[in-house]
Amino acid sequence: MKIDTLCVQAGYEPKNSEPRVLPIVQSTTFAYDSAETMGKLFDLEEDGFFYTRLANPTLDAVAKKIAALEGGVGAMLTASGQAASLISITNISKAGDHIIASAAIYGGTFNLFNKTLRDLGIDFDFVSPDITAEELEKVFKPNTKAVFVETVTNPSLDVIDIELFAKVAHAHNCPLIVDNTFATPVNCRPFEWGADIVVHSTSKYMDGHAVALGGVVVDSGNFDWTKGDYPMLTTPDETYHGVVYTEHFGRSAYIVKCCTHLMRDFGAQQSPQNAFLLNLGLDTLALRMERHCSNALAVAEFLEGHDKVDKVDYPGLKSNKYYEKAQKYMPKGTCGVISVCIKGGKEGAVRFMEGLKLAKIVIHVADARTCVLHPASTTHRQLSDQQLIDAGIAPNMVRLSVGIENPDDIIADIAQALEKV
Ligand SMILES: *Cc1c(COP(=O)(O)O)cnc(C)c1O
Repeated sequence: MKIDTLCVQAGYEPKNSEPRVLPIVQSTTFAYDSAETMGKLFDLEEDGFFYTRLANPTLDAVAKKIAALEGGVGAMLTASGQAASLISITNISKAGDHIIASAAIYGGTFNLFNKTLRDLGIDFDFVSPDITAEELEKVFKPNTKAVFVETVTNPSLDVIDIELFAKVAHAHNCPLIVDNTFATPVNCRPFEWGADIVVHSTSKYMDGHAVALGGVVVDSGNFDWTKGDYPMLTTPDETYHGVVYTEHFGRSAYIVKCCTHLMRDFGAQQSPQNAFLLNLGLDTLALRMERHCSNALAVAEFLEGHDKVDKVDYPGLKSNKYYEKAQKYMPKGTCGVISVCIKGGKEGAVRFMEGLKLAKIVIHVADARTCVLHPASTTHRQLSDQQLIDAGIAPNMVRLSVGIENPDDIIADIAQALEKV
């Protein structure tokens, strides 16, 4: 089935007389006739639901839909995108290990890696999103466990050369983890370019209406953990009576460990209600992405060449340095987010934002309503000047998230706000 059909149909298949629409299973626990069955569930000898922190039918169906959209063997929903990134790394690394990440990543991910995980003993090197294969080679250490990048970076909108990162990572027996939040599987499927694990903040386009926080980890099933140094997957897990994930679960080893081990211990589970809302959003994801992208291109073309604008970054513009890469990886379009530098420095940016009427100032991107945000004073305010430059963020940069309204109305709003700058 094609991706727009999967958006509507994948994940949930009702049996005879069951509800046509995915039900919200609002129960923390599940009843069984025998204690023996329960014991088998605890030892991972049988499949089934027993406690929603570990698994729940509503979450299960939505995870299956997202796995189908990305073309993976399995997926796990999380309470937020942050939880998905945290688990994607800690599922295969611990104190004393090393991770390579792109410097151009979401500010929250950067803090998680550079502060919290560093404090827990995991070492990070941050590299340019435009790094060459030769330069990237030199960053690897014997204890490197993974490489982490974003397809289209938030907020600088760099397009990552997924194939390049995958090739170099694989040469070192490391997986490539890709945060595919902005592109969504409708516009890019990183597994087709060699990525091994995908994470999303489903709070963005996947939900699409800014109603439910959530995240997801998706496993391609393609990475051979026995070739690299991943004892957490290839040696017995005593907390499950010595199960060896790679032996018992084969291609699903990574994602099964996420669900049974880390979700059990961290407990960052998504609520069934949020999973239901996420599923409603996914139904229309393909349609919405098409409109987000065509609207964003129209807005970017309007902004380019406007005399109150210093610079527009949108990979769909022919003038953009990532245009070719975007055509390769995302021929249908990248996303609805544009970054624009307004004349007059930080004050010019603020005047522009305060002049907007239809577009509201919010700490969010990637939903149906057009909105704006000033990264330097909000999402990325903890970053030093050098870290801001590395992440591609100028003081007068405004992140404009173009919604699915009529493009004429969005452009009219922007035009009147620019007049006030
Ligand atoms: C928002 C975002 C996150 C974090 O997701 P939350 O759901 O807010 O925790 C991670 N990565 C990217 C690219 C994001 O835009």
